[in-house]
Amino acid sequence: MPDHSSQAHRFGTRAIHSGQSPDPTTGAIMTPVYMTSTFVQASPGTIKDGYDYARSKNPTRTALEANLASLEGGKHGFCFSSGLASIDCVLHTLAAGDHVVLCDDVYGGTFRILDKVFKHHGLAFSRVDMTDLAATERAFTSKTKLVWIETPTNPMLKVIDIAAVAKLAKTRGAVVGVDNTFATPFLQTPLSLGADLAMHSSTKYLGGHSDVIGGVLVTSNDDLAARLRFLQNAVGAIPGPMDCFMLLRSTKTLHIRMDRHCSNAMKIAQWLEKHAGVERVIYPGLASHPQHALARKQMQGGFGGMITATLKGGMDASRRFLERVHLFSLAESLGGVESLIEHPAIMTHASVPPENRAALGITDGLVRLSVGIEDVDDLIGDLDNALR
Ligand code: PLP
Repeated sequence: MPDHSSQAHRFGTRAIHSGQSPDPTTGAIMTPVYMTSTFVQASPGTIKDGYDYARSKNPTRTALEANLASLEGGKHGFCFSSGLASIDCVLHTLAAGDHVVLCDDVYGGTFRILDKVFKHHGLAFSRVDMTDLAATERAFTSKTKLVWIETPTNPMLKVIDIAAVAKLAKTRGAVVGVDNTFATPFLQTPLSLGADLAMHSSTKYLGGHSDVIGGVLVTSNDDLAARLRFLQNAVGAIPGPMDCFMLLRSTKTLHIRMDRHCSNAMKIAQWLEKHAGVERVIYPGLASHPQHALARKQMQGGFGGMITATLKGGMDASRRFLERVHLFSLAESLGGVESLIEHPAIMTHASVPPENRAALGITDGLVRLSVGIEDVDDLIGDLDNALR
């Protein structure tokens, strides 16, 4: 059996084969769903391949973890029951008194877990616009242990220079984690840019079919991996084997889906930019994006499937528009094959304090599109109707 997990193979080959080999019992090409909570030992303490209890290790999860580690170009993968559970695991590596530098336009739930959960346990954090490197440097304190980057950010799609921030963090001895949910490893691999950790809400593009909630962490740092492995088991927010199977099935088509997400989004962003009812379009692939040059350097193969746009006419206009779309479903979440649309101020980012939303530009006229892989002309037709 050739070793397809080798980084010598290209992305599409690793997406389909890494972490998986035919089942030794039957030759089944798909990794079985190991619906078991425990494993029989021949003698006390004689454990086959580390499988003693399924919170600690399950073969379906092992295959998924190896697959995702390979896609991110890392050594160790850890899967969780949600994206937030994976962020929770990272924050548990810290201790009371430690400080986190966080990008300002971060997923609302990431801000919430720091502000409403870990702050009470003694973690401090600062939010900073990481497109401004000098401001980022000033945000460090002598207690900073973790830098958390999201790029492109949610929902303003700012692009942060991972290599530059990682370099800064290294001089201060801080761990760098990158939420790579929006880009996916198809477009960007944070570990290759100097980050210590890549994280995903696998609920989104990795899953790709809006039917699983999950999270993942990948690192090549053995010490960090040992702490994450301990915490994954000690806290116990692991995914079930069926969810792991579904995610393994999904990653096999990640490269094909991402390709289409990117080309559809680019066409829609260009179309929206010319529309009279639209005030501003934010898409890293447009020359008008403030960090377009960085996006071209940092992302390969496209700029993702997310577009943010401000409609002329504020709340009334955005509400009318969101009620009138048909192919775009009005729903939270993103990254599925079907197109979704939402209103960040009312929906996904309602947990961000209004003053922070205003500072970031999350206004009443702002809508966020997760462009799916339907026929792009049908999607444009839907937007055109709704904007009229
Ligand atoms: N990170 C980003 C960028 C997200 O968009 C989300 C969810 O929307 C999360 C993390 C949290 O993931 P989950 O919903 O799987 O817990």
